[in-house]
Amino acid sequence: KESQAMKFLRQHMDSDGSSSSPTYCNLMMQHRNMTQGWCKPVNTFVHEPVEDVQAVCFQKKISCKDGQSICYQSNARMNITDCRLTGNSKYPNCTYRTSQKERHIIVACEGNPYVPVHFDASV
Ligand code: 5GP
Repeated sequence: KESQAMKFLRQHMDSDGSSSSPTYCNLMMQHRNMTQGWCKPVNTFVHEPVEDVQAVCFQKKISCKDGQSICYQSNARMNITDCRLTGNSKYPNCTYRTSQKERHIIVACEGNPYVPVHFDASV
């Protein structure tokens, strides 16, 4: 079974990639299985080494968007791609807008080892 930590890697990590193409999100959302059963509406991919993203679990502690859980904000801006479902996209044809950004990422972490299990936001 896929652990929460494995799911985070599948949904959010693309260390060696970059969103150089406008079809990046269409391809990656499909390739990483986020367009099966429904089109996941918003998803972020991070183009940084996995160790650097795991290190965020020990960086700036803040509250998550839900207002109760603990999240962590990266000290540095990171190279990310924001994928957002277009308004006229109709399942099973999930079409996304691809936006490349340099932002601080916000994640929630769990377990031992304490690793990212949820992508909360970027700022
Ligand atoms: P909206 O901008 O549509 O009101 O809300 C989208 C929210 O999703 C934003 O707060 C954004 O930070 C957040 N978000 C971005 N990427 C992801 C992701 O990969 N997973 C989740 N759960 N939320 C994300």
